[in-house]
Formats: sequence, C-alpha cells, structure tokens
Amino acid sequence: MGSPADLETTLERARRSPLYEERLRDFRLRAPEDLRALPLTTRADLQRAGPHGTRAVPLERVCHYGETSGTTGASNSTWLTAEDFECNARRMMERHPDLFAPGRILLNRYPFMAAPAHLVQLMARLGGGVAIPGGNINWDVPFPRALDLARTTGAQTLAALPIEPIVLARIARSRGLEPSECTAFDAFFLGGSPLPPALRLRVEKEWGVRVVELYGSTETMLLGTSCAEGTLHLEPDLVHIEVLRRDADEEAPAGDEGRLVVTTLGIEGSPLVRFETGDIVRRLPPCKCDDPRPGLVVLGRAVEEVELPAARGTRLHSSDVIDAAAAAADAVDSSVFFVVVLKDRLVLRIETGGGAVARGPDPLEVFQRRLDGVPAEVELVRENDLLDVELLGRSPRVYKPVVTADWRGEGRRIVSVSEGMIEWPRPTGSELWRLVTRTLRRGRRRRTLLRSG
Ligand SMILES: [Zn+2]
Repeated sequence: MGSPADLETTLERARRSPLYEERLRDFRLRAPEDLRALPLTTRADLQRAGPHGTRAVPLERVCHYGETSGTTGASNSTWLTAEDFECNARRMMERHPDLFAPGRILLNRYPFMAAPAHLVQLMARLGGGVAIPGGNINWDVPFPRALDLARTTGAQTLAALPIEPIVLARIARSRGLEPSECTAFDAFFLGGSPLPPALRLRVEKEWGVRVVELYGSTETMLLGTSCAEGTLHLEPDLVHIEVLRRDADEEAPAGDEGRLVVTTLGIEGSPLVRFETGDIVRRLPPCKCDDPRPGLVVLGRAVEEVELPAARGTRLHSSDVIDAAAAAADAVDSSVFFVVVLKDRLVLRIETGGGAVARGPDPLEVFQRRLDGVPAEVELVRENDLLDVELLGRSPRVYKPVVTADWRGEGRRIVSVSEGMIEWPRPTGSELWRLVTRTLRRGRRRRTLLRSG
C-alpha cells in the first residue's frame, strides 16, 4: 500500500500536530512494517487532543473545518486545506468520468456539515458538471422539492446518503409517478452509511440506474469507491490500511474479518497515523474488473454489531442485517423497511403498497436464510407507517427573513419576523385524522414490543 516515502511524508506532516508531536518524536520508519511499532490512534485520543489537536498546518492554510456528527459519541474535529479537497475531488472525477463530466447535472443531497457535499460542489467547479447544492438536512430543500429539482433540471447524477433514493421513490409513487421514468437520473453516488448488496440492487432496480458507492469518513476523507462489479476499491495512494484481528493488535489472517486501521497519505490539514476507524472489514481477492486496487467489504461499525444473548449469542454485522432486510422487503416489492432489535429476536417491519402482496418468496424465510436462521418476525405494515410521505410533503415553506411586510398587495399578511421565515401548511381534517391514527398505531406497536422483548 503506502510506499515508505509516502508514509514518511505523512509522519513528517503529523509531527506538526499537538496529537503526534510527542508520539512520533523519536520514531524512524525504514519499511512500512515499522509502522506497527506505533500505538493506534483511537477516537478517544482525538477527543482528548481537543478541537485543534490534529491540526498540522497554520490556520492560514486551512479552508474547511469538519466535525463528525456525534452519532458514535462525542464529535471529532478535522481541519482541511484546499489541496486536501482538490486531491479527493480530482481522484473521484478520474475514477468516475461517467458520473462527473461537463454538462452533467448533479443533484447534491449530502448534508452540508459532511465533506462529500463540498467535494461534489468542488468537482463541479473543476469541470465535473453542474452542481445543485440541495443538502437534505435543511428546510429549504425538503424531499418533495428535491424530486421537483431533479425533474425540472433533468439531473443525471444523484449524490446522497443511501436512504435518499428510497424516500424519493416513495414520494414519486405517492404522486403516481414511476421512479425509473420520472427523472433523467442514470447514476447514483451513495455513501455515508452501509450500502450492502441487496440494498444496492433494490435501488438500481427501482430507479434503473447504476449505483457507485463512496466510502470514507470525516476523519479520513475519501477511502475508496466501488467499480462496475460492485467491489469497493481502496485508493492506495490516499490511504495505507491495516486489517487487525478483532481480539488483538495483529494483522488478521487473509480473508478473515478485522478492524480497519488507516494511515492517511493524502491529507495535510489533519493527518492521521494508524487511526482505528471502528469499522469491521474483510479484504477481498482480486476483482473481476481487473482493477489492481485492493478490494474491501465494509461489514459495519463494531459498536453497531447486533448480539442476541437469548439467541445463542449470535453476532450480526449491521450491514448483514440491512442486507437481509432489503432482500426481504424486495420479496414483497418494497424498499421501505425498519428493523427493531430485541433481546431475543429481530423484528423486521416492511411497508407494503396497500394492495395484495405479490406472490413471491416468503419475506421471513428470505430474512432468516440470510442471517443463519436468527430468531425473527416479519410484520407487513401499511403505506406511510414507516416512511410518512404525507408528513414529508407537509414540510414548512421557508423564506428569506424579513423585517417589514407590505399588506397592501397580494403578499402574505405577516406580523412577525418568525412568521416571515417559516410557514407551516394548515392540515386538512382528513390529513390530521391519518396523522393521529398513524401516531397511535406506532405507540401501540412500541408498547407491545416493549412487553414482548
Ligand atoms: Zn472491481
């Protein structure tokens, strides 16, 4: 992977940060294996080092501050330079000229606190297309408007979290539109959470597009993307990886799963040496696509593994659970599912399209077969019970804040700044009724699951 010269450059950069100054002081690297003598860098180390702890360049050279979303505990800080971004963006454009090219319209739905959103914008500026900055965690581009944007602009590439196409497809269908026909999408660039094979296939089938997976993290930036065969290939000149045994800090035997440890080679802002990503992965044999870059399966985060004490201690990776759930949902022609983990079983809830379910394989059988017979139950629920598109469609309208209102014409008759910024649609009686019954159904189900699990 990383050559000794590349690794030495990273160590040289890292020495300039408070986190590594001490740690790397007397260390000399002669061969890549020497790296193993260094301690691992954990997320707890990053937190202890403080917000500026990993910063290895003066603030004058930094253009971007990033923070992990905190779903895995406290937030970690990353400082990046313009070169760090450009290096990642150019690499993604080289790998995927069919997704990012002049004239292609890119609907960018990555949340804007996350780096991929900015990489997509940068790719567009570097000649990779026309980006629409429509981050999905905000009020000015709610999901229905994202679908409208895709349709009015003729966007071909959707860059987003894996849940996005599932939500957009439900909104399209609720308007009587066929997802594969209602937009010009031909490729999705998805990342940020697990995208196991069954979920990828379902999205490809429902939208009639090619899906490219993006793998990386706030701390490490781009680690790799998937090829036409669906294999995730790492970028060997951006990262040096080690796969360590689950129970010891030694290299895992070939083909075994292990903990992914990354040394960044392409980041000067906040370089990391032997960073314990928290992901469990397995190395793959050479890919059919002939790409010499090493292939990897990401099985999910170690902390998100599901263990069922009452079920013989079965341990499941989060990506396996999502894979099995997506396959089971597909068996009843659905993409919308939700898994509740109880002490003794998994409860898979699948939304079905209201009418009779097509005769196919039994979803429970599909789910259990993929998870080695783990105790489970499958519950088919009504449309909107898991993903309420009626509620999503009722997102508020947001406006640029104003401090005056002219009541003389047809404009809105507002009397405050807050009213001027946001307007909640008034529900009709029947909408209100459906909302209340859904909420009650959810509450009832929560109580029965609490009692039974
Ligand atoms: Zn490949």
